[in-house]
Amino acid sequence: MTFEFRDLHRQYVAIKDEIDCRIQSVIDKASFIHGEEVSELEKLLAEYVGVKHCITCANGTDALELALMAWGIGEGDIVFVPDFTFFASGEVVSAVGAVPVFVDVDKETYNMSPCALERMIVQVESSKGRPRAVIAVDLFGQTADYNEIRKITDKYDLLLLEDGAQAFGSKSCGRRACSFGNISTTSFFPAKPFGCYGDGGAVFTDNDDWAELIRSYCVHGKGSNKYDNVRIGMNSRLDTIQAAVLLAKYNQFENYELNFIQELAVDYNSRLEGIVDIPVINEGNFSSWAQYTVKVRSNHEREKLVSDLKKAGIPTAVYYPKPMHSQLAFREYKYSDNNYPNANSLSSTVISLPFHPYMKENEVELIVKEIRKSIGR
Ligand SMILES: *Cc1c(COP(=O)(O)O)cnc(C)c1O
Repeated sequence: MTFEFRDLHRQYVAIKDEIDCRIQSVIDKASFIHGEEVSELEKLLAEYVGVKHCITCANGTDALELALMAWGIGEGDIVFVPDFTFFASGEVVSAVGAVPVFVDVDKETYNMSPCALERMIVQVESSKGRPRAVIAVDLFGQTADYNEIRKITDKYDLLLLEDGAQAFGSKSCGRRACSFGNISTTSFFPAKPFGCYGDGGAVFTDNDDWAELIRSYCVHGKGSNKYDNVRIGMNSRLDTIQAAVLLAKYNQFENYELNFIQELAVDYNSRLEGIVDIPVINEGNFSSWAQYTVKVRSNHEREKLVSDLKKAGIPTAVYYPKPMHSQLAFREYKYSDNNYPNANSLSSTVISLPFHPYMKENEVELIVKEIRKSIGR
């Protein structure tokens, strides 16, 4: 048997007719940039998420940067970012010239710890930078603790940016991911919960002024048109074929995939409980399961597990092997390692298993059998 970490081919086979038809239609019309599928998708996704504006762009990283640009965040500003996330969440802060201050995460949900956030805000109050915003990440598909984080951003007058790159389709207390920030973003990278066939991203907000600014920034800072340029922007757009792919996938995603992966997680959980630390989803949360990530007892146990599973033909991944504060790219900021006990421990003990909406029960069974054999429990 061969395993895929995330089997995008099986997904294509399941909805081949819709995908082929939608892509062919774009080719027939030859409207590759700014075709009508792009605005159709933006309208659909804004309604789905429950916010006023959806602005698509080239990828999830640009989406984050566009949000920071709309807020005028740059030199002299401080932005708080979880220490355990994909590099882009912190990278964009430095890219606009501001300073990322990393915040330790909760050791159960792996999301930004509200207590650690407040501690870091108080710690930087004596520094020269001006705290402006918090980027909260919905890691592995579960929304961050917005009840608590919102109290803190209100208290310290900070803007909240939700990085929902891994959580499109997830919910908390009935409210959809990408609606919790003053601005929220997502990514349509192929392996994300709602992925296209290349790169893609989107920005969500209820604020008319920010929406207008972002629509300008992503088309070279356009004024009344593309050749009237009123600010320095960038070129960041979702091409029409990618919008068509997402439109073709939408029904399957909402009506089948999101439901199936809930059952898949329950199945994995019941088989793995007591063998490894299974994922913790907080009460009221509905995850879109970008990753199924478990914790083992030691780095040694993880190394053995990765290599044993590999021998059995089972791919795994480590998200993330290095916390943000130890990335070489951020060395100039000289973060203190003592502030990040949870991120440090997670980065040496987490492992993500094959997980996608087209997995079969016997595949889960086999993977778990190999895990038990490797760990000896
Ligand atoms: C994937 C990802 C991004 C970046 O998205 P791209 O589309 O790859 O640029 C940003 N933040 C997080 C948490 C991600 O997982």
